[in-house]
Amino acid sequence: MSELAFLGGTPVRTALFPAYNPIGEEEKRAVMDVMDSGVLSSYIGAWHEDFYGGPYVREMEAKWRKAVGAKHAVAVNSATSGLYAAVGACHVGPGDEVIVSPYTMSASAVAPLIYGAVPVFADIDPLDLCISPESIRERITPRTKAIIVVHIFGHPARMEEIMALAREHNLLVIEDCAQAPMSRCNGEYVGCIGDIGVFSFNYHKHIHTGEGGIAVTGNDTLAERLELIRNHGEVVVDGKGTPDIFNIIGSNYRLTELQAAVGVHQVDKLASLLEQRRANAAFLAAELAKLPGITPQPTRQGCTHAYYNQVFFYDEACVGVPRNVFIKAVGAELPSAHLRERVPLIGYGYVKPLYLQRIYHEHSTNCGPKCPRYKGDAQYGPGLCPITERMHYTELFNHEFHRPGMSAADLQDVLDAYAKVYAQRDALRAYVQSGKG
Ligand SMILES: *Cc1c(COP(=O)(O)O)cnc(C)c1O
Repeated sequence: MSELAFLGGTPVRTALFPAYNPIGEEEKRAVMDVMDSGVLSSYIGAWHEDFYGGPYVREMEAKWRKAVGAKHAVAVNSATSGLYAAVGACHVGPGDEVIVSPYTMSASAVAPLIYGAVPVFADIDPLDLCISPESIRERITPRTKAIIVVHIFGHPARMEEIMALAREHNLLVIEDCAQAPMSRCNGEYVGCIGDIGVFSFNYHKHIHTGEGGIAVTGNDTLAERLELIRNHGEVVVDGKGTPDIFNIIGSNYRLTELQAAVGVHQVDKLASLLEQRRANAAFLAAELAKLPGITPQPTRQGCTHAYYNQVFFYDEACVGVPRNVFIKAVGAELPSAHLRERVPLIGYGYVKPLYLQRIYHEHSTNCGPKCPRYKGDAQYGPGLCPITERMHYTELFNHEFHRPGMSAADLQDVLDAYAKVYAQRDALRAYVQSGKG
């Protein structure tokens, strides 16, 4: 066996992996149809038929309602916008607390700050990696207004218990489903279990419209409030006759017709793309589980996983090499992919626990915890969420080698890279002991 690429040897593979590109002829034709119409977005920010957007936006909303079984779907120009609108729709305001996850893309925790409220971080479940009912319960105060649950990496949170807690304390639940489209929890699609669910269609997600998102809800009032916040609600409420205008100063969160035209066809492809992800992930999990010290994330009974990323747990004591060195060594054996040359397909940890970001530490806004109406003492220091920190700094790694488009030979190269590094753990250990690692 050749020397490890990480130590100067020849990598298992240098030819780039296939691109993950779900865009095809259907999307191109639909975009040309919009171009020919000359109307690239149909919204009007006034009480008018076009307050709800144009034909492609409405068709995409109809398709998404059907795909996940939602009563209402409100297309937006990103999941970030969708989360902001959701927090606003839930009547969150200055002095309120919203319980959030520290192990997620930053927008899911920043959203409360936009409305002057305070994000309160709960710790994650060590298996599904989403905020746990136990930690949420500890963080509930008389000021808590809502919970933002993130189905991180595509695995559903423990929604049944979280919904029971929310009902007990009269809290609203927003589901961030950006990484979990069509994941199921006891037969129900995520996004339709809480009060509002938000999905992302940015370029990095399962399906995409460049940038884009959609919010779903089963509640007529919340749907109306989302629509008003999406599109200049303040000018619309009189014409529409909306009595409750709290937080209804609107924005421009409107998705264009060009993007919706792409989205209409992307939605059709989602089920098959998910199936390929699940098949590849199952194959890689079964093979990599044969390496002692590497454990694929289990999928909880009654759930389905969307595998935005495929997650593994790493036992340093068992493997005998620090996680970061091991993962760097596997990464060195493998190339990136076409279209995404600069994005590595394997990584250790995920994002730094969000409460360690300076924005929380230094309270760099004049609202949130600094708001004179805030009577609590939300904490943001190191040690706040020990499971999150353990996962991030020592135990978790993830890869994207399971993406659709990977052939059997591509997947074999991935397994060969892991096996090669595993077989040469002694060389890595010597490297670490020499003080270089
Ligand atoms: C991608 C992502 C978002 C934000 O989505 P955008 O559409 O880029 O705004 C929010 N939450 C999570 C968990 C994400 O992965």
